[in-house]
Amino acid sequence: MAVVLKTTRELSIMREACVISAQALQLVGSAVEPGVSTWELDRIAEKFILSKGARPNFKGLYGYPATACISINNEVIHGIPAKNRILKAGDIVSVDLGAEFEGYNGDNAATFACGEVSPEAKRLMDVTRESLYEGIAKARSGGRVGDISAAIQQYVESRGYSVVRKFVGHGVGTSLHEAPEIPNFGVSGRGMRLVPGMTLAIEPMVNAGTFDVNVMPDGWTVLTADGSLSAHFEHTIAITADGPKILTSV
Ligand code: MG
Repeated sequence: MAVVLKTTRELSIMREACVISAQALQLVGSAVEPGVSTWELDRIAEKFILSKGARPNFKGLYGYPATACISINNEVIHGIPAKNRILKAGDIVSVDLGAEFEGYNGDNAATFACGEVSPEAKRLMDVTRESLYEGIAKARSGGRVGDISAAIQQYVESRGYSVVRKFVGHGVGTSLHEAPEIPNFGVSGRGMRLVPGMTLAIEPMVNAGTFDVNVMPDGWTVLTADGSLSAHFEHTIAITADGPKILTSV
């Protein structure tokens, strides 16, 4: 699959899709509290995205049944919202969602604390968020995909955590998932050359224990194999001549 470079005009539409995605994520995050179901969070996201004249772009993709993926504690990604999944104080809640607007896609994720969480959970969330920004800082024209991957891996592993290998970031544009793949582990100086006009979803998934994961019988929910906590942060960014630009900022 070839990489599709975006024009300035396309980037400005994509920015709109990404702002809607970021606002929806922020709105869901502010609703995370004990007693709320993941289904209610999903409704908030969907209503908001539709109110902006956009489309929830996860819904229906590969048959996925909801607007957001909501994954709690040892769930890594792809948790399906449900009325009987009620948040408890101390949970960490990973929300991944996106919006398509005028044919272009945004994609972003963040892990939120539900009430007061343990210092261990807080540190895992902080390290995962920071690793995303370490990766974004390497998303520079003239560099390579491996520069992003290695920066994330090094930041995470030097702090005693592991990066999930089985799932990776990706190009994003008129399709939610485009080339190239952006692994959260790798070797700097390797991989595809980064050039202006590339739009990438960079999304470290970080486990407190080992990087091994399993998929639940529902065919979607990904769990840490050792039951340890997991966190997930994601931005859609553009490579420009002036450096990386985060598109999914409010
Ligand atoms: Mg993504």
